[in-house]
Amino acid sequence: MKIMNDLSNSDPEVADTLLRELKRQEEGIELIPSENYTSRAVLQSIGSVFTNKYSEGYPKKRYYGGNEIVDEVEIIAIDRAKELFGCEHVNVQPYSGSPANQAVFFALLNLKDKFIGFSLTSGGHLTHGSHVNFSGKNYACVSYDVNKETEILDMENIRKLALEEKPKMIISGLTAYPREIDFKAFQEIAEEVNAYHLADISHIAGLVVGDAHSSPVPHADVITTTTHKSLRGPRGAIIMCKIEDRLHDLHHPNSKKNLSQLIDSAVFPGLQGGPHDHTTAAKAVAFGEALKPEFKDYAKQIVKNAKSLADDLMSLDIKLVTNGTDNHLVLIDLRPEGLTGKGGPIQNALDDAGITVNKNTVPYEPSSPFHPSGLRLGTPAITTRGMKESEMTVIAEGLAKVIKSKGDPELSVTVKESILELTKQFPLYPGLSILK
Ligand SMILES: *Cc1c(COP(=O)(O)O)cnc(C)c1O
Repeated sequence: MKIMNDLSNSDPEVADTLLRELKRQEEGIELIPSENYTSRAVLQSIGSVFTNKYSEGYPKKRYYGGNEIVDEVEIIAIDRAKELFGCEHVNVQPYSGSPANQAVFFALLNLKDKFIGFSLTSGGHLTHGSHVNFSGKNYACVSYDVNKETEILDMENIRKLALEEKPKMIISGLTAYPREIDFKAFQEIAEEVNAYHLADISHIAGLVVGDAHSSPVPHADVITTTTHKSLRGPRGAIIMCKIEDRLHDLHHPNSKKNLSQLIDSAVFPGLQGGPHDHTTAAKAVAFGEALKPEFKDYAKQIVKNAKSLADDLMSLDIKLVTNGTDNHLVLIDLRPEGLTGKGGPIQNALDDAGITVNKNTVPYEPSSPFHPSGLRLGTPAITTRGMKESEMTVIAEGLAKVIKSKGDPELSVTVKESILELTKQFPLYPGLSILK
């Protein structure tokens, strides 16, 4: 690529890291469930002259000149997002998932207000109330958890907690929960207790628009999602919401703003300055790709691959949290292997075998988040690469061998050979590749 040649000439040091990262991505099996490979069209939009522009404000209401063309691309992104998700309103400017959630808190809650969110150790996100995060420090979070026996969310328990605590907001959404989320049930609870419902679909947005997971859009007041996970766009996020504020008289009686205006003004000028227009362009491209019929095949294959990987692992005597999956995510419980707290060393041994995963807590983690007892896997990236059920079998065998050997380095070397053999058959960016 021309741009790569320019970079190699002007900055060989950074160009070298970039080429080696490309090689790492091409050679390895990427099982981190929040990662993916964007199209070259998305990559080109991120690396474009839109990064040179400043455009604080919203289309047709900017604080700087020269925004006629940026307005066009932001409107394309907005229109495509609305068509893709079927939402009433969307803000495409959030820099990433965490700032998007921060904007929702800023729009709807006052400091110290109470909300309920999914516990971090059982599958929620840091921004859903962790005590080390702004959400847990600035607001009063009460966490809900999965049922200890089934490891599944129990909606009746969540309802009881909401009735007891009377939160102003309820967050649904996951980063490490392998089962379907019942967004309608969350909305019913939120309505019963006069709370806002924020559905954070960062992990599953690609499944939602690909008809492989139910959508929160008809139900939730506000929906946030990153654009770079299963949705396969650039790093960034969007916030969708209803236009009317169902709880205006109760929670914002002195405000003249409806819900969409509360959200927009929280993003800008509340939290952010200029939007990243190059990312907006890339979001528009990614939404265009997700509107194509092939995207549904991709989304359904993600789930088929995850179920197949889960079945293969279980038949190799590996214990999974909830004994299976409904989505893109598989959570291995290492405790039965005598590896409590050893997620880190096993993650490292898998790195040496060319399989990238991340160590993760299991529900009611007996060790700690830094020394957790689980491994989190996901299938979006390998599905983008074109892998199907038969490849899942090879990957499951590699995973099981490394785990059963308790991270024996010699075994990692043999597994790496089979992984290299596999990845060679699925070129990542044909033409861009530097691998011979
Ligand atoms: C990834 C994720 C986020 C945060 O996104 P960043 O872009 O990493 O800030 C927020 N919520 C959920 C559920 C996520 O999975």
